[in-house]
Amino acid sequence: MSSSFDSARVAVIGGGPAGLMAAEALVQQGVQVDVYDAMPSVGRKFLMAGKGGMNITHSEPLEPFLGRYGARREQIAPLVRAFDPDALRAWVHGLGVETFVGSSGRVFPTDMKAAPMLRAWLHRLREAGVRFHMRHKWIGWDTEAGDAAAHTLHFATPDCEQTVTFDAVVFAVGGASWPRLGSDAAWVPLMASRDVPVTPLLPANCGFDADWSPYLREHFAGQPVKPVAMALTDVDNKVHNRQGEILLTETGLEGSLIYALSAVIRERILADGDVTVTLDLAPGLPLERVVAEVTRPRGSRSMSSHLHGRIGIGGVKLALLHEILSKEAFTDADGLAHAIKALPVRLTRARPIAEAISTAGGIPFEALDEHLMIERLPGAFCAGEMLDWEAPTGGYLLTACFASGLAAGRGAAAYVGKLKGSDAAA
Ligand SMILES: Cc1cc2nc3c(=O)[nH]c(=O)nc-3n(C[C@H](O)[C@H](O)[C@H](O)COP(=O)(O)OP(=O)(O)OC[C@H]3O[C@@H](n4cnc5c(N)ncnc54)[C@H](O)[C@@H]3O)c2cc1C
Repeated sequence: MSSSFDSARVAVIGGGPAGLMAAEALVQQGVQVDVYDAMPSVGRKFLMAGKGGMNITHSEPLEPFLGRYGARREQIAPLVRAFDPDALRAWVHGLGVETFVGSSGRVFPTDMKAAPMLRAWLHRLREAGVRFHMRHKWIGWDTEAGDAAAHTLHFATPDCEQTVTFDAVVFAVGGASWPRLGSDAAWVPLMASRDVPVTPLLPANCGFDADWSPYLREHFAGQPVKPVAMALTDVDNKVHNRQGEILLTETGLEGSLIYALSAVIRERILADGDVTVTLDLAPGLPLERVVAEVTRPRGSRSMSSHLHGRIGIGGVKLALLHEILSKEAFTDADGLAHAIKALPVRLTRARPIAEAISTAGGIPFEALDEHLMIERLPGAFCAGEMLDWEAPTGGYLLTACFASGLAAGRGAAAYVGKLKGSDAAA
């Protein structure tokens, strides 16, 4: 440990993947780290991510990988280059957890779970000297604290309120999705009270509402629509078209294909009030083939059994056709074939942010320096999902949380290093 850091003390607020990575970067530099979390235990969203088979990162080449951060590619790129997917995998292996690349290119821990990783990581952090303070919710700043105001923090605990002064602080308090796991966005007004800009938080990787009939809802909610392709035009008139899987829900549509295009759908709804996406229910068949099959004479067979027999359309796909087309349209074979290849579905609203997998919006990079320090609040850094970026599912979220946590932790270590260096010199 570096002796010049011996008396340096840094708080990390939030024990998700970003905060824990910041804590690790700090403690490795010999800084005393105190992790505070509002919940009774850390990493609850990380553990939840492990429930459905956690993808920790993605194996695609770095250039397309970085492209997944869309408008924020430029700001996320240096962070991810400093801790890229290979480095992240090596780091996971260092915790004693092996990884594998799935058929989709996503990288998973061998047992698909987050719990063994988190357990090993917390053990390593505790051994290194990181102190954990659970049920300590950061509730504000001590604005009377003069130069240290940016890192004199108030906490609410089950017994009392505490005020503690640190040499620096890393905020990693998450977004606003799944608030019951801890990230409830209560930090937004606290940052705003110090004139730190916060881009409004919006749902990302979320479902959308459609006006389903009671019949469709009752009989088909919960059923996957696959394979299916979806096309829509974004606010800049660029057409997006992807194939995948959709889940029909009580209120509308969700699932990996919807998540992948959720930013485009959300922006169109914000701009226009609603958006009509087109579904291709037979993505493996060209239009001509679908027209040829559907318009073949069907004798006494019903149109439904004709569709099933000729092109395998039945179940929830058939129900969607019935839902959206009129009775007359359903009997016009040529029109029906075209609808199978381009069924318009109107989406009216994003599902509430509490149900979303992740959050768009947050503290914009323009308010930060290259070490993720808030320029208005020297000594206050931030990382993870509370920053203004978004990415699809597939490991890109965790990768950027880890990488930004590492950058903020290293930035805070360098900051207190300079502070203590100048103290020593004085
Ligand atoms: C169901 C689900 C599945 C997911 N699956 C994947 C996946 O497979 N791959 C992937 O890459 N990503 C996945 N994600 C996303 C990923 O889990 C998040 O992006 C990531 O956890 C965000 O990390 P974070 O450290 O920024 O914030 P969080 O993990 O949200 O941690 C923030 C921490 O801050 C604490 N906190 C908040 N406010 C305060 C306060 N005022 N005072 C003290 N503590 C506070 C919270 O209690 C929490 O512990 C999934 C998310 C969900 C919901």
